Amino acid sequence: MRPNLIMVSACGLVISLATPAFPQRAGEPRKALDETNVARVLVERLDLDLYKATIKGLTQFGDRRQGTDRNKAAIDWIEAQLKSYGCTNTERLKYEYQPPAGSVRATNQAGAVGGESTARRSGTATTTTQGGGRARGVRARTGVNNDPNAQLDVKLRQLNSQPAMPGSREEIYCTKIGTAHPEEMYIVGAHMDGIGWGEAANDDGSGTALVMEVARVLSGADVQTERSIRFILWNNEETGTNGSHAYVDQRKDLQGQEVPPGSGKYPEPKWLGMIQHDMMLFDHGMPLEDGTVSKEQRPEADINIEFQTSAKFAAQSQALAWVFESTNEKYATDYPAAVSSHMTNTDSGPFQDVVAAISLRENERGTQIGNGWDPQWHQPTDLYITYSNKDFRLGLNATQTTLAAMAQLAGAKLKK
Ligand SMILES: [Zn+2]
Repeated sequence: MRPNLIMVSACGLVISLATPAFPQRAGEPRKALDETNVARVLVERLDLDLYKATIKGLTQFGDRRQGTDRNKAAIDWIEAQLKSYGCTNTERLKYEYQPPAGSVRATNQAGAVGGESTARRSGTATTTTQGGGRARGVRARTGVNNDPNAQLDVKLRQLNSQPAMPGSREEIYCTKIGTAHPEEMYIVGAHMDGIGWGEAANDDGSGTALVMEVARVLSGADVQTERSIRFILWNNEETGTNGSHAYVDQRKDLQGQEVPPGSGKYPEPKWLGMIQHDMMLFDHGMPLEDGTVSKEQRPEADINIEFQTSAKFAAQSQALAWVFESTNEKYATDYPAAVSSHMTNTDSGPFQDVVAAISLRENERGTQIGNGWDPQWHQPTDLYITYSNKDFRLGLNATQTTLAAMAQLAGAKLKK
C-alpha cells in the first residue's frame, strides 16, 4: 500500500485515500494529515509475534540481574539487536555501583502487607501508598523472592545462580538523530535488569522489548524524524533506579552542547521528555478475597500512563501524558489508556524535576501493583510461559501508543 497517497479535489480539499477510517476535516492543515498517515504506517509495522520474540530473546539470560555475567551478556545481545535494526550509533553509559553496606534490598516493598498470605481490605482510614495515591479495596502481600529454591526449574535456577558483584556497570543506548533539530530529543526507556529468580519476562522484559521494537520501526531506512530520539535500556533499576540516576547525574549539564562547536553534533541533545516503560503485560484486576489474583485478564484491562503531581515538571509531564492518551485512542488496536498522577519507583523518577517525565505500565505502580495486583512481581513465576496472548497484546498496545506518540512529537516523515 502506498502510505502517502493523497488526492487534491477540484475544490482544493485534501482527501486521504490511505486512511478512510480517519476522514480529513475541512480546514485541517495538510501537515496534520501527513503525520496521521505516517503514524499509522509505522504502527502497522509492529507485530505481536515480533514483540513476543524479543521478550523471549531477553529471557535466555534469565533474570538479567545487575552485576552478573548474564546481565552483561544481555546488554551485548540488546546492542547487537539494535544495530541489526539500523540503530547503529550505540553507546554505553558507565558508572560504579556499590550496594549500601549491610542493607537488605527494601525498595518496592513498602506496599507489602506484613508477611501475611491472605488479603486485607483497606478500611475507611486513608492509606497512602508510594507515589501518593490511596490504597483502595482488597490488598494482597507483595515482596521480593530471594530464595533460589523457590525456582522449581532447575536449569533456570542454575542460570540465575551467579550472585551480583559490586563494581563497574554499563547501560546501552542508541539515538535516532533528528534532521531539523538534532539538538533536541525525547528519551524512551525501560530497564533490562530483573530480580526474583524468574526470567523477568514482564519486569521488565516487556518494557525492554517495547523500546527495542519502537527503535526498530523508527530506524527503518525510509523513516526520518525532525527531532532526535534516544532509546535506552537502564541497568540497576531494581537496586533503586541507580542506572537512570547515573545518567541524569553525568549528562544533564551536557544538554544542547554542540561538540565540537560548528560540527552540527550534539552528544546530549536538549531533553524534551522522558518516557519510561516498566511492566506492560499483566492487568488481571484487584486481588480476590482469598489473596489470589484472577488467572484471566480482566475485560477492562488498560494501559496506565502516570506522571508525578509533586514533581517540578508536573504540568509539562501531565501535558505529555495526554499526548500519549490521545495516540492510544487513535492507534492502539485493543486496549484504552488512563492517565493518573502518582508515578513512582521507576526510571522516569530521576528526570521528573528536570524535564517532563511519564511512565507507561500495566497498572498504577503505587495503588495497584504495590497492593498485590501482579502476583508475578519479583517472583520466580515471572516467566515467558506465564503470559497469554491477551497479556502480550496489552504490551503491544502500549508499543503502538508510544510509537505513534514519538512519530507525532518528533515529527516522523517517510522518504519517498
Ligand atoms: Zn520494573
